[in-house]
Amino acid sequence: MKYFSTRGGKEELSFEETVLTGLAPNGGLYIPEHIPSLPENWQEKWKSHSFMDLSVEILSLYISEEEITRTDLRKIVEKSYKTFRHPETTPLQKLNDKKYVLELFHGPTFAFKDVALQLLGNLFEFFLLRRNARKSADEKPEKLTVVGATSGDTGSAAIYGLRNKANISIFILHPKGRVSPIQEAQMTTVTDANVHNLAVKGTFDDCQDIVKALFADREFNATHRLGAVNSINWARILAQTVYYFLSFFHVRSQLGDSQAELQYVVPTGNFGDILAGYYAKQMGLPMGKLVVATNANDILARFWKSGKYEKVDTAASTQEETATDPVNGASDGKQMTASGGSGVKETLSPAMDILVSSNFERLLWYLAYEAAASSTDAHARRLEAGDIVNGWMGKVKQDGRVEVPTAALVAARKDFFAERVSDDQILETIRAHFTSEPSYVADPHTAVGLYAAGVIAPQNSASTSQIILSTAHPAKFSEAVTRALGNSPQFDFARDVLPEEFHGLLEREKRVIDVERPDAELIKAVIANKADKKDAGSQGLPRTSI
Ligand SMILES: *Cc1c(COP(=O)(O)O)cnc(C)c1O
Repeated sequence: MKYFSTRGGKEELSFEETVLTGLAPNGGLYIPEHIPSLPENWQEKWKSHSFMDLSVEILSLYISEEEITRTDLRKIVEKSYKTFRHPETTPLQKLNDKKYVLELFHGPTFAFKDVALQLLGNLFEFFLLRRNARKSADEKPEKLTVVGATSGDTGSAAIYGLRNKANISIFILHPKGRVSPIQEAQMTTVTDANVHNLAVKGTFDDCQDIVKALFADREFNATHRLGAVNSINWARILAQTVYYFLSFFHVRSQLGDSQAELQYVVPTGNFGDILAGYYAKQMGLPMGKLVVATNANDILARFWKSGKYEKVDTAASTQEETATDPVNGASDGKQMTASGGSGVKETLSPAMDILVSSNFERLLWYLAYEAAASSTDAHARRLEAGDIVNGWMGKVKQDGRVEVPTAALVAARKDFFAERVSDDQILETIRAHFTSEPSYVADPHTAVGLYAAGVIAPQNSASTSQIILSTAHPAKFSEAVTRALGNSPQFDFARDVLPEEFHGLLEREKRVIDVERPDAELIKAVIANKADKKDAGSQGLPRTSI
């Protein structure tokens, strides 16, 4: 299987190159040359498979045996998912016959990104070790320096994915004092020598700008071989297709009814999680339309209404939340704080606070392919689709918006519904599910999915069951949960929500480097100092400053 860029060009990469490269040089995202179909009798053969078994079967459809043997693939998969606490890896909770919650948060950091990042870290390590084993003694080993910024909610999944991996070091910048204590502790209590937490005096935007500046510095980038683990990496999408299959079998076995139609509802930010569902559907997993559930950052919900993909909601100047500045909002993809008066809105589901959805470009390619009717031959059509996406993304960059042709919108509506959910609706949903029978405490992201599911449900046929993807443990987003349930006499956060693993977390040993100014040069100095020293800092002070 080869991979090519959504923005066209002749380049064709192996799986290994695709995973190590991340973003294509022409700005596009890599997609497989074709979507494989499922083997004959897959339902019979796979119905009792564990998450790991399914993972090996599905991944091997996208990775040729010459690249990773099945034996090696199984080892990588086992190493990745043995870190999960639940025997079913991603278990299903039944709310009623028509409604199930697929819990994706039983990995090391209690959020769904673990599913992808545990695998990605092991793939990186596998490829680097193999490359280095092929080198002669006098050649320099290949190393990777992963750099990223976090507002708190997702940095820990990257850290846990890469901790203690050979030839890899990771530097995660967070705005000092502006992430929640639990999230800060989840990151800084990882004391492996290759993990470096940088607490930067400044905002999340400062941190993000610094990371961008590092990647833009060619010399620095080349010297340290900077890498990113953001959600555009193909391996992350692939890893996430597995739980769609697993939950399909679990619901089918519970309902004992092969007529039931499944509808997946997915809390969506960068469109990675739901895109994995789209691939599963295209591979042949039976399901109805996928439901895109967004928070107030609703660029996707607006797209499905209008066919316009635009950063700023130009049609809604009268709406309550339009604190957007059309000039700044349209000028670039920089995320600005609410006080900056532009762009991303801060919501109770912060992991979904986005201006544009990076993985949406992959879906746009398939829509462009549908719309590229002028080419009859598959190869010519593929090239035409790349040109079309290139044009669309150019418009988004330049004007902050693009409108796709009707054929593309029709294609998008064939496979998806989309709904937008407000903060008030999130709180209302958390309360409603806590007081229902069975009582369920949802995190605010999951609540976005639950609310959207409720909006769609009346349109469904009697045989449809909904599976709502739960993307985080409620203890991880305690603020929203406490706001929703704090007044309820039956609710006790420590008793009902807080997992054992979080007890004493705040008191555990921490390792963090304080950075006194949001200054890219200071950060470069830290990276240059630490990246090459294998056990740097492990004997040093727990808290250092520069
Ligand atoms: C990242 C994240 C999401 C959004 O997933 P995408 O793949 O970006 O759409 C939703 N919920 C939580 C808790 C997340 O961390």
